[in-house]
Order: sequence, then C-alpha cells, then structure tokens
Amino acid sequence: MKLYICADMEGATGVVHRNDILDEGGEAYRSGCRMLTGDINAVIEGAISNGVREVVISEGHSHMRNVLLEQLHPAARLIRGPASWENKPLCQIQGLDSSFDLAFFVGFHSRAGTPKGLLAHTWAGAIVHEITLQGKPVGETAINAAICGSFGVPVALVTGAEDVCREARADLPEVEVISVKKNLGWNIAECWGPAATGPRLRSAAELAVQRFKQGHFEPWQPAGPFVAELETHRREMADKMALVPGLERIGERRLRVVHGEVTVALSTLWRGVTEAFKEPADWLK
Ligand SMILES: [Zn+2]
Repeated sequence: MKLYICADMEGATGVVHRNDILDEGGEAYRSGCRMLTGDINAVIEGAISNGVREVVISEGHSHMRNVLLEQLHPAARLIRGPASWENKPLCQIQGLDSSFDLAFFVGFHSRAGTPKGLLAHTWAGAIVHEITLQGKPVGETAINAAICGSFGVPVALVTGAEDVCREARADLPEVEVISVKKNLGWNIAECWGPAATGPRLRSAAELAVQRFKQGHFEPWQPAGPFVAELETHRREMADKMALVPGLERIGERRLRVVHGEVTVALSTLWRGVTEAFKEPADWLK
C-alpha cells in the first residue's frame, strides 16, 4: 500500500499562535516544526504497522519547508519547496498520482470564517475571504480531498483541532479524524502534549488503514462541471486575480472559474491567489 500525506502546520500538536508557525517566531517556530514532524512520524508508524509500504509527504504550509527532515521516519520521502504556481499548480498537493492507495491530511485547520476556528483560513489568510465549490463554502480539507479524488485517491484520516475534525466529517462523512487539541478561539486551544497525541495519532492511522482495507473509503468525486468562486478581502486583490485567464470577475471582490475538471478549476483559483500577492506599490493605490 502506498500512502500520500498532505501536511499543514496549524493543526499540529500544541500549535496555537502565529509565532508557532512562521519563521520569525524563533524558538516557538522551531518547537512547532518538531511537533509537526512528531505528528507525521506518529501517523506513519501507525500506517506502516498495518501494511503501508511507501509514504510520500507533500508539505503544505507557508514556504513549505517546515518538516524536520533529519527527524523524519525512514520510510517516508518529503516534497519540500514553496507553492509558486509554476512549482505547485495545485498549491498543497504535489507529487500525487493514481498509484497511491490512500491519503492522510495531517496538521490541518478549519476554513476561513469558522466561528472560534483555530488559526482558521483558506489557502492564504491575507487574501482569501471565502472559497466556494459548487456553491458551497470549502476549506483546505474539501479542496484537497477533491484533488485527491480526481486521482482516484480517497482521504482516510484528517488530524488537527476539533474544529477541523468537525469540518472534515461534514465534508467527508466516512473519514477517520483525530483531534490533538480543543479549539477555544482564533489563537487559543486546550492542548495535549506530544506524549499523549503521539499514541492517539498512531492508533488513528492504524484504524484508518484498517478501515481502508475493509473498503470504507471512496475517493471524493463530485459531479462536474465545476464552478469555483473566490472572494478576496480587498478590491485590489481581485484586480490582480482578474488578470488570470479563465477567471471571470463577478463582483467587486469576487471571481469565478467554470471547468469540467476540478483540478483545473482549483488550479486557476490558486494562480489567481499567487497573482493577488503582487499588489501595486502604495503610491499607485
Ligand atoms: Zn498552513
């Protein structure tokens, strides 16, 4: 069995604050990297104990170089490097193909706008107010599950705080979830330490693989054509996004793409987000 792991960071053990997840956080960030790597290793151990032979991890947070390679489980390979549109047209998912049997999402967080959501956002907190797919608000769990589904790969496990576990169950009713902390607000949570979350993550991964072998998981493959929309926080961001071929401006801050393939629709939105980061200089505003 071949396992694909998409790893974000906000949902890792103990992580609650931007200092825990951004380079400039110093020691707090380095601790966040250790926690994330520990969570990943724990689910890999659980998966391997139940018959997984190959593991590829795609980093999905910030500059996408957070996992400590020197501490990584020897069974895994790690895809590192930032999600410029040229590098990673599907943002957090790179290196996935139909040879994988199942996927885990580790360290995930709830979508933009989640009440009391811990570090909640979708793709880029500075840019994105909301993303919808087929008219329904989606976060990174649903977005990445749809991409995995397009390769025929089901998502078997989502890990993070309680809010993202609820979101994952609403989007993917069969999915196995494991909470490593209870969200109490934007940057506050009641946390277990790694000595407690490690064994829980390991057991959840073991169970997810067991349920996969029993045929519980189907790839998430909603019917097309796909209508994906993105609303930005500010008008200038939408101005930049509107330059991307395939994105139609449907409001002051809102853009839409329609395509028969979900990966193309989502990739077009991601390209727009990378353009939105290129705002004009202050003197041009
Ligand atoms: Zn992240």
